[in-house]
Amino acid sequence: MEDEFYLPPGFMDIPPLLFDSETNEPISFCKICGKDLIESDSDYLIQKSFRRFPEHRLDEVVFEFAICSDCNRRMHNELSEESKKMMEKYMEEEIHASDQITRMVMLSHEKEPDFRDLTGRCAVTGKNLDELDEYTIIAQGKGPKLVLGLLPLTVSFEAQEGLNELLSQKTRDFLDGFTQEHFSGPPGIEELIGPRRPMFV
Ligand SMILES: [Zn+2]
Repeated sequence: MEDEFYLPPGFMDIPPLLFDSETNEPISFCKICGKDLIESDSDYLIQKSFRRFPEHRLDEVVFEFAICSDCNRRMHNELSEESKKMMEKYMEEEIHASDQITRMVMLSHEKEPDFRDLTGRCAVTGKNLDELDEYTIIAQGKGPKLVLGLLPLTVSFEAQEGLNELLSQKTRDFLDGFTQEHFSGPPGIEELIGPRRPMFV
């Protein structure tokens, strides 16, 4: 990122949209190591995917989890070199330039930005949420707060599929293994998640 865009990170309360849908409170445990993220004031990533049913004015949660920065780093290191490079290149080149500029302007105001303004469209395609069938919000947490910077952002399913296609078979298998291990819930959940792979950025 260019120096002129540098802003010290700001914080806001974790918005209810990113809460654990069962407890209605911030997701408090790392999905992999089980560490308490709030009490330990850890850095972590939150991912929450939604499927939209506009006719019912409903956004259904497909999956949600938090992962501490140590586990995220470990997961990222497990990806093949080729896939890591691809992912980095994709994030660098495809994240909509206008999204980043709008974001920086929003974050440079003293007023706390609106979470929906930061995540209201796909950061890759620039499409508004109401044009999307499915999307994932990726956000960075620190203890009970949300860190504002390049994240939070929204990635449409469409854009995520584009990214998945660039990944090596080894990486896809690895991510599918992660999904199977950690999201084997009620019957049908794997089918629901199906090709939806978590992103370890
Ligand atoms: Zn962890």
